[in-house]
Amino acid sequence: MSKWNLVIKVGQCENCQNCVIAARDEHVGNDFPGYAAPAAANAESPIRILRRVQGESHMVETTYLPVMCNHCDDAPCMRVGGDAIRKRSDGIVIIDPDKARGRKDIVKSCPYKAIVWNEELQLPQTWFFDAHLLDQGWQHPRCEQACPTGVFEAVKLDDAAMAEKAQREGLEVLRPDLETKPRVWYGGLKRWKSCFIGGSVSAKVGSVVECVAGAAIVLYVGDQCVAETVTDVFGDFRFGGLAKDSGMYRIEIRHALGNASRECKVGESVYLGEISLALSHSAVEAN
Ligand code: SF4
Ligand code: SF4
Repeated sequence: MSKWNLVIKVGQCENCQNCVIAARDEHVGNDFPGYAAPAAANAESPIRILRRVQGESHMVETTYLPVMCNHCDDAPCMRVGGDAIRKRSDGIVIIDPDKARGRKDIVKSCPYKAIVWNEELQLPQTWFFDAHLLDQGWQHPRCEQACPTGVFEAVKLDDAAMAEKAQREGLEVLRPDLETKPRVWYGGLKRWKSCFIGGSVSAKVGSVVECVAGAAIVLYVGDQCVAETVTDVFGDFRFGGLAKDSGMYRIEIRHALGNASRECKVGESVYLGEISLALSHSAVEAN
């Protein structure tokens, strides 16, 4: 049996909010009996774009993460909601617009904060995959149609084929530790979860401070080399994919113009700033 899944490519979101606006346009003030009552204009959007900013000027990396109902196969909201929430055979979770009236307790049941409260109608509401459109033959929800950078990919596959796609494309789900079996998958989630160490290497050449391109940078944990790179034409280097709160690191920098070393602790991402090379013995002699 084929079921709906949504793939979200994390690094491609530019926070333009088109998906949020399209979903609001579809649902605010529009009644879809059996699927959802009209969304309230003043309620929070059930599609949210979270933001993470790492580093410092001038090495800043901003990542946006679209989040919405995951249409979990083992949904905590269904355990609380009883017959007010149902899962369709195609995987989509629907909060019943009649049976859920007055059930504010359902809002808190979602560990992903994907349910919003419609005060006017006294209803918990969520992003229901635009099931009313899919049932009319649409292949994509409004958010996917509206996204200019191709962040979303709605796919209808059987679970084995989806698992294979997830494996092949390195897709992950949010909070796998909750064991809710989400049907929303993320590509590039590492960018959201991991940290970097970066810096900018310079050296004084005569009376001028120059960016040092091509310096060899080695990253150590204790005495063990864990990664190597070289500086770019601006003298910048960056080691990505480091785990949050992964502790102490040491950077060794080598170049014909000189050497340098730095230590830092990774809780969040670290930009070491400008690192001036101390002239090596050979460089002093050459000068
Ligand atoms: S993300 Fe939240 S609202 Fe959606 S199915 Fe899972 S528990 Fe329910
Ligand atoms: S429309 Fe696409 S790029 Fe714009 S905020 Fe939504 S997911 Fe991000």
